Amino acid sequence: MTSAVPPDLPCHLQHYIDGRSVDSASGATFKVIDPVSNKPYATAAAGGTEDIARAVAAARRAFLDGPWPSMAGRARARVLVAIADAVEAREDRLAELESFDTGLPITQARGQARRAAENFRFFADMIVARGDEAYSVPGSQLNYVVRKPVGVAGLITPWNTPFMLESWKLAPALAAGCPVVLKPAEFTPLSAGLWPGIMEDAGVPAGVFNLVNGIGEDAGAALVEHPDVPLISFTGETTTGKVIMRAAAEHLKGLSMELGGKSPVVVFADTDLDAALDSTLFGVFSLNGERCTAGSRILVERPIYDEFCRRYADRAARVVVGPPSDPATEVGALVHPEHYDRVLSYVEIGKGEARLLAGGGRPEHLPEGNYLAPTVFADVKPDARIFREEIFGPVVALTPFDTEAEALELANAVRYGLAGYVWTSDLKRGHRVAGRIEAGMIWLNSHNVRDLRTPFGGVKESGVGHEGGHRSIDFYTDEHIIHVAL
Ligand code: NAD
Repeated sequence: MTSAVPPDLPCHLQHYIDGRSVDSASGATFKVIDPVSNKPYATAAAGGTEDIARAVAAARRAFLDGPWPSMAGRARARVLVAIADAVEAREDRLAELESFDTGLPITQARGQARRAAENFRFFADMIVARGDEAYSVPGSQLNYVVRKPVGVAGLITPWNTPFMLESWKLAPALAAGCPVVLKPAEFTPLSAGLWPGIMEDAGVPAGVFNLVNGIGEDAGAALVEHPDVPLISFTGETTTGKVIMRAAAEHLKGLSMELGGKSPVVVFADTDLDAALDSTLFGVFSLNGERCTAGSRILVERPIYDEFCRRYADRAARVVVGPPSDPATEVGALVHPEHYDRVLSYVEIGKGEARLLAGGGRPEHLPEGNYLAPTVFADVKPDARIFREEIFGPVVALTPFDTEAEALELANAVRYGLAGYVWTSDLKRGHRVAGRIEAGMIWLNSHNVRDLRTPFGGVKESGVGHEGGHRSIDFYTDEHIIHVAL
């Protein structure tokens, strides 16, 4: 099965520095492949220390001399709304590029532009609505607090829903007044190539938005190590987060870290089983299972365990796996052969650790490309690797429990703590269990629906700090307190 190649596909992706598209100073490039043919379709400029230095210098000039950091919030908000409009105008193009480059089903790639645009509209509203704080000591003092953009922000992003996750960092950083250097994931640099046109259409001044493509250990590391970048906002694997934290310590940088997950779903016997099945299938098989908040461990109360396993496996076996460009496809191709091999290795590990109920390998009708049949393991023990380690693919572990206490023990038995889900008709118990799961975000009788005002982030090894709402603006700004004697 061949890839549906989008028309006018670029064959070379450049950096964007100080308002101009440029190649690496060294001339270095890397190959970009699509996940259906696994063949290179383009080269991308491979950024290194020198390219990062150029981008940071441009951003720093925009910070020190440019209008962006000192513009009124209202003026920046107008530009952010124009960015949102420019993103939406590219909805179809973004969907076809994102689906081609990442392997996401085209129907799921379509939602990405709307969500990305919403991120800009949301932070445009927020920056206008925010006020400054003042504390008065009657007759003696007035103390007021203003927020100032911190400086150049380094944004390092992963390959799952890449454009949307880039927007989730770009929008608050720009709203707060920080010029940025974005380093997109090297597996999926294609859609980031839309940003320069979007920023230019919206009237973002040169130097405020800069993009450097490249390998994490080169371009990403150079950005983290650059002394003129006081903030790093990172989304990616926990192990990478630790490397970045160590490197950033040298300069005491501000860090926002959105890391890996292995999120539990606790299903009690009294739940609306149809709703729980719909939601838990969507929770781990949408976005190819390459979703940080995937409910990849489903803990099911014993009285309904057998029925749940049977119905879940039956539904999983009917999920349509196919080419990302086909509107009927529900699970597309995994992003890259390296990642595919890693996910397959977990499937093989799982076969020795638990009972395979569905999937377990490549679907027969798809002999090439990074395709995996939705894979369901049952009777997964808490010491199994497929229970403890993030797989980041369409693979799920089902485990029975007998008591609420046991459910909580199982839910909290991993080093991650990003999300959690609870299904029960007993709301008192629902709130109680939701309150005790060690995770940044819990959904009760719901799948992962986002309210952009709420904090997004994890605890334990799933992250440091939160993104979303005021927290994002707080991250990109410093508090500046002025004490006035009356
Ligand atoms: P990754 O850590 O391999 O790469 C993420 C980014 O970091 C890429 O741009 C990469 O080039 C860069 N990078 C790699 N090494 C670096 C280094 N030494 N210094 C600086 N930058 C470096 O992650 P990935 O495989 O692209 O993404 C998947 C992971 O992201 C999963 O663990 C997933 O759970 C996580 N994720 C988390 C969230 C969240 O909000 N918590 C959201 C999406 C993805």
